[in-house]
Amino acid sequence: MNRVVPGGLVLAVDQGTTSTRALLVDADSRVVTAAQVEHRQHFPRPGWVEHDADEIWANTRTVIADTLDRAGRTPAELAAVGITNQRETVVVWDRRTGRPIHRAVVWQDTRTQELCRQLAGPAGPDRYRSRTGLPLSTYVSAPKIRWILDHVPGARRAAERGDLAAGTVDSWLVWNLTGGVDGGLHVTDVTNASRTMLMDLDTIRWDPDLAAELGVPLGVLPDIRASSGTVGRGHRDGPLPGVPVSGVLGDQQAALFGQARFAAGEAKSTFGTGAFVLLNTGAEPVPSRHGLITTVAYQCQGHEPVYALEGSVAVTGALVQWLRDNLGIIRRAEEVEVLARQVEDNGGVYVVPAFSGLFAPHWRPDARGTIVGLTRYADRRHIARAALEATALQTCDVLEAMRTDTGLDLRELPVDGGMAANDLLLQIQADQLGIPVVRPENVETSALGAAYAAGLAVGVWPDLDTLRRHWRAGAHFRPTRDLTWRLKQRDTWRAAVNRSLNWTGR
Ligand code: ADP
Repeated sequence: MNRVVPGGLVLAVDQGTTSTRALLVDADSRVVTAAQVEHRQHFPRPGWVEHDADEIWANTRTVIADTLDRAGRTPAELAAVGITNQRETVVVWDRRTGRPIHRAVVWQDTRTQELCRQLAGPAGPDRYRSRTGLPLSTYVSAPKIRWILDHVPGARRAAERGDLAAGTVDSWLVWNLTGGVDGGLHVTDVTNASRTMLMDLDTIRWDPDLAAELGVPLGVLPDIRASSGTVGRGHRDGPLPGVPVSGVLGDQQAALFGQARFAAGEAKSTFGTGAFVLLNTGAEPVPSRHGLITTVAYQCQGHEPVYALEGSVAVTGALVQWLRDNLGIIRRAEEVEVLARQVEDNGGVYVVPAFSGLFAPHWRPDARGTIVGLTRYADRRHIARAALEATALQTCDVLEAMRTDTGLDLRELPVDGGMAANDLLLQIQADQLGIPVVRPENVETSALGAAYAAGLAVGVWPDLDTLRRHWRAGAHFRPTRDLTWRLKQRDTWRAAVNRSLNWTGR
């Protein structure tokens, strides 16, 4: 039976940390076709991570064309396009030439550590938390924009003349899609703006005082728009001529949207390069006293924004990459599961992957990675298992902080992301948390969320309830361990994390 309504096709572009994907989604929320291209990771110095924004735009065009080709569709058949993106990563480009003035500085990059320390001053990293929901850290966008303006010769003067545009990757893509130097729209959405440390969470506008204090001229910043609402149309000479650009959300907020967690008290965890737990807190921003971020979950045009509490863990899948690329104990990411299944437990081994410090709930840029509990008995299988446990245990720490901040107890945890393909990880997660973990049929939730936001704005779907009914469970993982076991695991983990926090070697 073909239940696809005419014109009900929505394209989602998911511009992630390691790759760019495009997915064609039908009105039943099913993925029709998809395409993906990886981009280069540049590590010019320890702690620095850069992407080539031109390469990302070229890859975006490629995946859009490939997805449509595979489906035998043309842009004219699309109802809308939605964009979701790696967050906090910044691009600064010249409005006249359309060329980036520096490689994109990626969210994981720690070059602004000293700058953040100076900006924090004696007040400390929570200086701007009540206004922005964020701790001052290398993670947020504004210090990265400031760094580029301070380090590229002539950039600050060019910015003050109005020649430069800055933004997160969503802004870069929308500007290019809608015409670039030929009238491209310089916009961002509330979710991406909420990660810059320049937006006031209550007014959802740029805060001129913050911009001045952080050294980012207001003139380089995009206009802030709703996450779901038409901002413009694809340029006639671009890859999507005439197609409404009507959904933009940061990848984690898009995943929450794609998991249909529209109600206060609902959460999800995404396991990718890092892990990100978002808890929908409804119409009010909830301040955190336990190391979480207060952020915008989404905003539909004409409605008030919906907020979330977020626990961001910097390294989860990246640890699996490290086992593959730096230790060479696996050849492909999925082999970590095969290896970890060969042992019954971690043999006393714990890995704390604080490669670029620890994010939530610690926010300690100086923490460093550690492997503890090694004996002559331990081997690569235990390390593989400990790597999966590190993902689960870091997620437990974040959920614990959420419970303390809100008093809410989750009944189950929906998960997604590339690492959610790992059944052993999800079983370990359920055991460590003591609640069921559920993986939806479609784990491409960020792309789905972007498609939902875009499709809602143009009437492919009438309302959020319809989308909620489209959510389909794929697999359930039920806890098999008791409280005593869980508490013991958490205690030992805490001791391992303390080692990582107290490491003072240079
Ligand atoms: P992102 O969107 O952050 O680029 P993805 O959601 O695509 O990331 O997930 C990719 C990450 O997941 C990589 O870090 C990879 O090492 C890890 N990964 C992928 N498959 C598995 C697996 N089966 N088991 C464990 N880790 C995996």
